[in-house]
Parts: sequence; C-alpha cells; structure tokens
Amino acid sequence: MHRVLAETYPEAGCELDFRTPFELLVATVLSAQTTDRRVNAATPGLFARWPDPYAMAAAPRLELEQVLRPLGFFRAKTDSLLGLSAALVERYDGEVPDRLDALVTLPGVGRKTANVVLGNAFDVPGLTVDTHFARLVRRFEWVEPQIASDPVKTEHAVAAIFPRKEWTMLSHRLIWHGRRRCHAKKPACGACPVAHWCPAYGTGPTDPVLAAALVTTQGPA
Ligand code: SF4
Repeated sequence: MHRVLAETYPEAGCELDFRTPFELLVATVLSAQTTDRRVNAATPGLFARWPDPYAMAAAPRLELEQVLRPLGFFRAKTDSLLGLSAALVERYDGEVPDRLDALVTLPGVGRKTANVVLGNAFDVPGLTVDTHFARLVRRFEWVEPQIASDPVKTEHAVAAIFPRKEWTMLSHRLIWHGRRRCHAKKPACGACPVAHWCPAYGTGPTDPVLAAALVTTQGPA
C-alpha cells in the first residue's frame, strides 16, 4: 500500500511554505484548526515583519493578533508564537533545536508539530500523526482499534511496521491520500489506488464515477 501511495503521489511533501526551521515551526503551530493554504497566505506578511525568534519575541501583541486573526484561535496562536519565540531566544540562542525532547518543551509545540519540524527541516525521520494519518491507519488496520485514538501509541505502532528512513515520506503520503481521496465522511473508494488491500473499502461510494467526483484536486490542501 505504501508503494502504491508513493507512485500515486510522487509530489507528496510538506504543504506548508517555509525557508528556515523557525518558519516551519511557526507555520506548523499556526496550521492547527485551519488549512495549510490559509497559513501559506498569512506567513509571508508575518515573516516580513518578524523574521526570526528575536523579532517575534518582541512583537507587539495587538499587531501580531491582527496578522493572525484570519487563521482563527488567533489569541491562543499569538500566545504560542510569543512564548515559543521567547523560549528559543532564552534557551536556544534563537535557534530551533533538532531534538524531539527539546522541541516539545516549547509553548504550543506538541509531538506532531515537533515531528513535522524534525522530518522536514532537519531530515530527522518522524511520523506525523494528524487526523488524516490516524484515520487512515485505522482504516488500513495497521493499528488495533483500541489504540487508534491515542496519537502516541499510534505513532509507536506504525513505527514498528516501517523502517525509520521511510517515516517522514510515509506521513506525507498518508496525509495526501487522506486529504485527496480517503476523506473522513465520504472516501472515494471507487477511485482509490489502494482499494484492493483496504479493509475499509466500501466506506465511501464504490461506483467509479461517483467516487471520481469526490477526489479533490492536487495542490496545497
Ligand atoms: S478504499 Fe476507501 S477507505 Fe480504503 S483507503 Fe481507499 S478511499 Fe480510503
């Protein structure tokens, strides 16, 4: 299934725009409860004004809130950006650490965000258990149903199946498939390249024409 997903989505990768580990860290924190497309629309203006942790830690709260307002939960996201920037300045000389245990101590940074940053900014393999990843591995029966609601247990269970070097790209491919075909409510089963092996085949329409209409277009989701 992984091989077929790799062939189906050769362009799969991080859908957040970034130039530095700091930009990816910020973009990933901002992507909670919104789309990558919206984050990508907001970050150029954000980084033009506050390009690094030193500048962002000193940003006036109200100005930062205004820039983040279109992303929703903007007060909480402002708190996270001010807090994580200050922590980077105080504890890491303004550099983003390349270790999971250090990243998860930063305000607003959980295991999922840390693994996105490790995998895409530092080439340290990581599994990114977001809502798509969790749904797909449950449908594929790669994890037991009773642990599927626990992201950390899910991460460890999938890590035991795949070689470490594949973790980052496996995450991208699962997330791309989840965004484009294997939707939460109506998966496009009749237009799915891994249907042959999928225990959840039939969760969505199996008619090829109906299913094809459910496949979303490529590009940032
Ligand atoms: S067959 Fe359906 S449920 Fe299974 S992976 Fe494909 S779209 Fe998802």
